[in-house]
Amino acid sequence: MKIVVLKFGGTSVGTVDRIKKVANIIISYFRKRYKVIVVSSAMAGATNDLIKKSKKISNNFNLSEHDVLVSSGEQIACSLIAGRLNHLGYKSQSYMGWQLPIITDGKYGSSRIVEIDKKKINKFLKSGGIPVIAGFQGINMDKRITTLGRGGSDASAIMISKFFKSEKCVIYTDVDGVYTTDPNILKKAKKIKIISYEEMLEMASLGAKVMQPASIQDARLNRIDIDVKSSFIKKNGTKITKKKNILSNKIIRGISFTKNDAKVTLLGVKDKPGIAASIFKPLSNNAINVDMVVQNISTNGKETDLTFTIKSEDLIKTQKLIKKNTKINFRDLIVDNNVSKVSIIGVGMVTTPGVTYRMFQALAKKNINILVISTSEIKISVLINKKNVSKAISALHKEFKLNV
Ligand code: ADP
Ligand code: ASP
Ligand code: MG
Repeated sequence: MKIVVLKFGGTSVGTVDRIKKVANIIISYFRKRYKVIVVSSAMAGATNDLIKKSKKISNNFNLSEHDVLVSSGEQIACSLIAGRLNHLGYKSQSYMGWQLPIITDGKYGSSRIVEIDKKKINKFLKSGGIPVIAGFQGINMDKRITTLGRGGSDASAIMISKFFKSEKCVIYTDVDGVYTTDPNILKKAKKIKIISYEEMLEMASLGAKVMQPASIQDARLNRIDIDVKSSFIKKNGTKITKKKNILSNKIIRGISFTKNDAKVTLLGVKDKPGIAASIFKPLSNNAINVDMVVQNISTNGKETDLTFTIKSEDLIKTQKLIKKNTKINFRDLIVDNNVSKVSIIGVGMVTTPGVTYRMFQALAKKNINILVISTSEIKISVLINKKNVSKAISALHKEFKLNV
């Protein structure tokens, strides 16, 4: 059986007219004698609206109920797609995660797919049907509905590809591929024809919303090639694949940025062993993710300053936790909610000296102050004032010749 998995994102199924267009794309594959498995996200904005409602009900909404609620948008989109295919004379049916079932592991809100029962779908495919499976959802050992994290229908598509051994996995979205940076922010951004899992994972983790980071981990682990394409225009997209398949390695493949970071600085912290652990333990216990960390070398051997970044949405909670932490002493607490992390990513930097210098120099020329720096083998990130993000991206794009 030649199987193809086609995933449609929120904007692609955002209106009735868009859903009609999506049905035509699905049919074009069916006519090429593919067995088509469709995976859909919720209509654009639907998941956000549900989250807003949960917040109005309670600022401590039950996590299991939260997943029941936020997964419901997918049901609407799937039934509309299946309904349209039926209308056009094709056999189609929607399937929610629990109906297969799709088994997940992990916490509510960030579960991962571990198993998919294929029986119902295989039977339906053999009978000439086009199944439309709800993305973003599954069930856990307690048979409760779970969700896979924001953007999680990408992960659904990839795991469905894995379990059904599909020939292709196509992610249809509102841009015609993965670009050197967000094309909605920098007009000069260029489409990347082919990119490695490693680079895509970094780009996604560092802010490129086009693919969910966890989905790229799943793809890499299971060696699933992904095509990212537009559901709006017919054009070649981007292939995400293993490093070996990529001939030319640019020094820098792309630039990512975050939109919702906050910086916290503790001034005059007593410098003694275990102090950093005492600061971060309560944050970790409250599921607050600490990203970049810098500790200044203390000049008098007694006190030091410690700076770290977190998601903006965690700022108030973090401030409260630090203030009530009796295990630490500090002189002052300074917070800044107007920061952004800009990162350059590329496997080529491993073998090319001088990349860090070029990045800093390019930013300095534009008078952009760097607040915090962090690096790994294939990325360099800097924290800067939010107002400088566009200027920084544009300068770095030029410096690393990404538009040629
Ligand atoms: P979908 O609803 O189809 O899942 P998303 O909104 O999750 O789509 O992702 C697509 C969006 O990702 C684009 O509209 C674009 O603004 C954004 N994006 C961010 N970085 C990149 C990038 N490097 N290349 C392409 N798109 C990007
Ligand atoms: N509808 C979900 C979300 O908005 C899943 C997805 O779009 O992939 O996060
Ligand atoms: Mg998405």
